[in-house]
Amino acid sequence: MAVDLLEARGGGPNQAGLAPYAASESNSLGRRYEDPPDPYRTLYQRDCDRIIHSAAFRSLEYKTQVMVNQAEGSFRTRLTHSLEVSKLSRTLARALRLNEELCEAVALAHDLGHTPFGHAGQDALDGCMKEYGGFEHNLQSLRVIDKLEHKYAGFQGLNLSFETREGVLKRCPKEIAENLGPLGERFLKGGSPTLEAQLVDLADKIAYTNHDLDDGLRLGLLQLQEVRELPLFSRAHDEAKRDTRDPSRHALLHEINRRMITAMMTDLIQTTGERIREMRPDSLQAIRGHPDRLAGFSKEMQAGLVPVTRFLQENFYRHYQLVRITNKVARVIRDMFDSFMDKPRLLPTESYRRVCEKEATDGEAGRARVIADYIASLSDRHILAEYRKIFNVPGQIEF
Ligand code: MG
Repeated sequence: MAVDLLEARGGGPNQAGLAPYAASESNSLGRRYEDPPDPYRTLYQRDCDRIIHSAAFRSLEYKTQVMVNQAEGSFRTRLTHSLEVSKLSRTLARALRLNEELCEAVALAHDLGHTPFGHAGQDALDGCMKEYGGFEHNLQSLRVIDKLEHKYAGFQGLNLSFETREGVLKRCPKEIAENLGPLGERFLKGGSPTLEAQLVDLADKIAYTNHDLDDGLRLGLLQLQEVRELPLFSRAHDEAKRDTRDPSRHALLHEINRRMITAMMTDLIQTTGERIREMRPDSLQAIRGHPDRLAGFSKEMQAGLVPVTRFLQENFYRHYQLVRITNKVARVIRDMFDSFMDKPRLLPTESYRRVCEKEATDGEAGRARVIADYIASLSDRHILAEYRKIFNVPGQIEF
């Protein structure tokens, strides 16, 4: 049937081809603030657009995945990681007849709350915030999309759909869940998020597991012989050597990387597909009401992934060169935090205004939270530039 270009698709159900258990506009729990539908874009398409147009998304470009974003070479950043997760999860969604646009929105937003300097930055900021409620990047991602992005006239935050917000919030302590209304319910009463959200979570794991191995090898922090002790890796390595005509190390590493990703993606699609066929969910409600997640890897793949995760922890994330970086990063964040707590007027005008507002209601904890929001919003480059301006450190800070 020819597409009628004169008929706008509207914010209607747009469910063509979706499985009954997929999220869609017709079963969405909607947005927090009333927002008329767009005549040309679907609900989740608009979520993607709003995320991409946010300041927090732009700063992902210069935020670290593992290394400090100053290192030379084409290593992953939070931005490229988020794009990889988005592409992987769209493939998963298409194979399982789920909502690709919702997957994309959750993937693009899932790391918006990350601090500069990756997990090292988060741990340092969490330490600074110990007496004020702590800091956790996943909760911060929700805070960014619900509160901190403030540029629409009619509402605070990006006013994203319930399903995108639900997908972003992977973990939540009970005391916070109690204040989140319907979004917090599954952390209090049990249940699962949409299958789309479950798959993005696993696409995240596939992306970082593989790109961290790849970055570690390319940086020379990991050695091929030691990584070969991992069966998932050695299998892909043997296949790549057998099939690759280009003998360069660069091509070989790429071949290993893509084979490992393909193996994990195929396993995830097949295992999740089998579980769907067994359980026969007939609605999104059936997915949400299920106490266990339907999306998952096979037992064999899980058994293969456990040593990979352990290996990365021991040999990459705790490599002495990264520990040295972590040490310096913790100092930069602690010095910045303490200086702002001491003299909030060091903050840029907009953040200082927010400190005054929050202090009026929440006292010192309010001041600390605004400062944490400010520090978390900075990219690696931006925080180092700020550090130099505040402390008059000559030249580059070497990492
Ligand atoms: Mg991630």
